[in-house]
Amino acid sequence: MESDAPTTSRTLATEAVHAGREDLAGLGLHAVPIDLSTTYPSYDSRQEAARLDEFAATGARPQGAPVYARLDNPTTARFETALARLEGAESAVAFASGMAALSAVLLARASQGLRHVVAVRPLYGCSDHLLTAGLLGTEVTWTDPAGVADAIRPGTGLVMVETPANPTLAEIDIRALAHSCGAVPLLVDSTFATPVLQRPLEHGARIVLHSATKYLGGHGDVLAGVVACDEDFARVLRQLRFATGGVLHPLSGYLLLRGLSTLPVRMRAAAGTAAELSRRLAADPRVAAVHYPKLGGAMVAFEVHGDPHRVIAGVRLITPAVSLGSVDTLIQHPASISHRIVAEGDRRSAGVSEQLLRMSVGLEDVDDLWADLDGALSGRPARSARTAVHAEGPTAGRVPAGRARASSPAAR
Ligand code: PLP
Repeated sequence: MESDAPTTSRTLATEAVHAGREDLAGLGLHAVPIDLSTTYPSYDSRQEAARLDEFAATGARPQGAPVYARLDNPTTARFETALARLEGAESAVAFASGMAALSAVLLARASQGLRHVVAVRPLYGCSDHLLTAGLLGTEVTWTDPAGVADAIRPGTGLVMVETPANPTLAEIDIRALAHSCGAVPLLVDSTFATPVLQRPLEHGARIVLHSATKYLGGHGDVLAGVVACDEDFARVLRQLRFATGGVLHPLSGYLLLRGLSTLPVRMRAAAGTAAELSRRLAADPRVAAVHYPKLGGAMVAFEVHGDPHRVIAGVRLITPAVSLGSVDTLIQHPASISHRIVAEGDRRSAGVSEQLLRMSVGLEDVDDLWADLDGALSGRPARSARTAVHAEGPTAGRVPAGRARASSPAAR
């Protein structure tokens, strides 16, 4: 596929639709083929031995027919090619989840004798836990962006941040931070921004991580992670993935590639609605504070004066659920779910208060979302089990007469 890469530079919207698919017309195909093989026939074991030796020595993507699905898969490789192109990276390596991707990065640095990580809170709760607990034999120093340069020491293998951060949406100046990191690679978890809003490598970061489960997939039906980086580091990650087995299923690779093609459109539409909802929330006396990134995006966090659990229990259209980045709107209480695993004191000092709610805005109409939020903020009673069964029954999905209407300008 590399040889089919375009020679002229294309915009992100065009790359989102075409990257990773350049060879299809030559194959006589329009849709991307899904290769579900776990193994591949070869009558030449000497040649296979040479290819395996080459992979063990270099970690380069094997050329020719694949050998075994834990080593390489053509459908997943298409997604990797496309994501690398969108991030402006030499390479990308996909994993079974965002946490598998982060684990591979940490193990890759630790295997090079660099076990110390400098990190800035907040991070997604499980990323925080992985570092704090030292589950992979790493050691972490938590600091703020201004303290990163001082926290770096011999043996530091990585500086890690999220921007905008989960769940407070705090933002970090990537270029300034990259400068403070010196020779130590800066990893930016860019899950909330996606390459549509931010391309960290252009600002000096060396590694970009996505929970592809979120916006890249975009429909709440794929669990995946991906790392965009230079080819040297990608080779180490591929070797680690082969040895530890955290590979992405090819069907997920297919769904992610399909998700990428609508990513710019989804992000723009959801971000317009999120910006409008953040304005309405900020003007509402029931809301104590609203956090919406300067960068934009489709995530809104807000702190309520009243009981945040009542808001969660009171939504009807919005789904009360962890995760984010889907076409439908989700809301959750970080102190109870996404960041529950972080010690209470660490959570609070990172700005994750008990009053904080995190909303992932989808593609619904802005006024419908606002009507639902308004009802939930007013303390609408929790949905009963009976109502839930009814809503999921055969009548679900019908729009009562007079309800359907054109989108308001804010939602476009
Ligand atoms: N990074 C961020 C910012 C996340 O929000 C998440 C999950 O919520 C992860 C990483 C982990 O990703 P996954 O759930 O795909 O393992």
